[in-house]
Amino acid sequence: MKKNKKLTTASGKPYFENEDSMTVGPRGPVLLQDFYLHEKLAHFNRERIPERVVHAKGTGAYGTFTVTGDITKYTRAKLFSKAGNRCRVLVRFSTVGGEKGSADTERDPRGFAVKFYTEDGNWDLVGNNTPVFFIKDAKKFPDFIHTQKRDPRTNLKSPTMMWDFWSLNPESLHQVMILFSDRGTPDGYRFMNGYGSHTFSMINKKDHRTWVKFHFKTQQGNKTLTGPQAEEIKGKDPDYSQRDLVDAIERGDFPKWTLKIQVMTEEQAKKFKWNPFDVTKVWPQKEFPLIEAGVMELNEIPANYFADVEQAAFAPAHTIDGIGLSPDKMLQGRILAYPDAHRYRLGANYEQLPVNRPIVPVHHHQRDGFMSVDGNHGAAPNYYPNSFDGIVADKDYKEPSMKLDSTLADTWDRNENDDDHYSQPATLFRKVMTEEQRKNTVSNFIGSLKGVTGPKKKEILTRQLDHFRKVDKELAMEIAKGLGTIG
Ligand code: NDP
Repeated sequence: MKKNKKLTTASGKPYFENEDSMTVGPRGPVLLQDFYLHEKLAHFNRERIPERVVHAKGTGAYGTFTVTGDITKYTRAKLFSKAGNRCRVLVRFSTVGGEKGSADTERDPRGFAVKFYTEDGNWDLVGNNTPVFFIKDAKKFPDFIHTQKRDPRTNLKSPTMMWDFWSLNPESLHQVMILFSDRGTPDGYRFMNGYGSHTFSMINKKDHRTWVKFHFKTQQGNKTLTGPQAEEIKGKDPDYSQRDLVDAIERGDFPKWTLKIQVMTEEQAKKFKWNPFDVTKVWPQKEFPLIEAGVMELNEIPANYFADVEQAAFAPAHTIDGIGLSPDKMLQGRILAYPDAHRYRLGANYEQLPVNRPIVPVHHHQRDGFMSVDGNHGAAPNYYPNSFDGIVADKDYKEPSMKLDSTLADTWDRNENDDDHYSQPATLFRKVMTEEQRKNTVSNFIGSLKGVTGPKKKEILTRQLDHFRKVDKELAMEIAKGLGTIG
């Protein structure tokens, strides 16, 4: 190693000593004037930033997205304007409920967040490895997440809290069914699909809107662990999925996913059996077939985990022209919650950090705040309208207006089938799962439900079994048998 760099303080002063503190005599007390020591200790004390409330344990990789299909009929996004178009992406995979040091093979949904650095700005598709979610309204999110975290008294994870909440919210059944199937314990991040989960929209050149769902299909094949395998790995290698991804990329075995979309016209949406904006439901693929859009390859582990993964800030609010939002209530809540979380975690200028910075220049009048690191737009005016900077709000980028119900709706306004929480889990259990997957799912349910304890145990189990009965009588019977509540 060539020794050609001088040690310096953070302010750049070459410094002569990095191991022994400055003392009064060789055995004396430490001197206050050893500011290099203070700087080192003080910075160390500030190394941790707030952990993400959810998705705290994660791993990331850079790669490329290449357009392979023609979806110009639906979107005017420049990225999709022709096959062969490419952009750089950052993907962050994660578990949801555990803390930053928790085990990768926990039974949990997996976060699947993609940042596309496009010539139209950053597009974040912040999804999971499941096509649905536990709840359909963000108002329930803090309550739900509290049940996935630790009991306020014991500070332990609590199956009682989880099943109490799930049994009181049958809209969770579909996601719970997937979670307790083998798909709830994927064999590493390379071997799972990703889903945008929400309904989004696409706007084409003719200013026409179509509703869309996004699917990333793994080209490695879906590979899962059984409950017992996942448990065993938890103890042996808590970083199992991260290690698998890093190792694969480092040996040049770059994982790939095919991005596909489902589309639904506004007319079809009005006639669809279920609310197409309900994130607890899927759109059946026979009715709404998958259309290929592109291929994503991950081929680079970021040089610095903290800079590029811990500081990465994904937000469903980050869309690009030609890709829009929808009335999905959960999505609407996330539009607010994600940037808000990043402002808390990283500060108001989080989008100036290198990993979050778009590859195109930004023009706006937001200024100042903690850690403004991009020159703060120099001498340019900080107000709008003004006679100097030439920034215009271009009406060409306006999306077509959306027809909405004009009445204020709340929980008590339900449409037909809004409370059908059972048909799709039933299809999954009866028609999609294999015999072996059904068996594993039942056994995973029993294992978790056995953890329900306390004075409300009977009430919670009875309520949950009732929901299972509405999905499939045999499913409920097998679980009840396993729990010893019948037969
Ligand atoms: P299809 O038979 O057309 O599709 C079934 C889908 O289920 C496939 O995409 C498959 O993904 C996925 N799958 C297979 N096993 C599991 C599992 N254990 N957990 C979760 N997903 C699994 O059926 P439909 O479109 O009519 O949907 C039927 C049911 O399949 C739905 O109720 C839903 O539970 C589930 N599903 C549906 C999706 C959709 O967008 N329609 C997406 C994912 C699941 P793959 O082929 O990649 O393995």
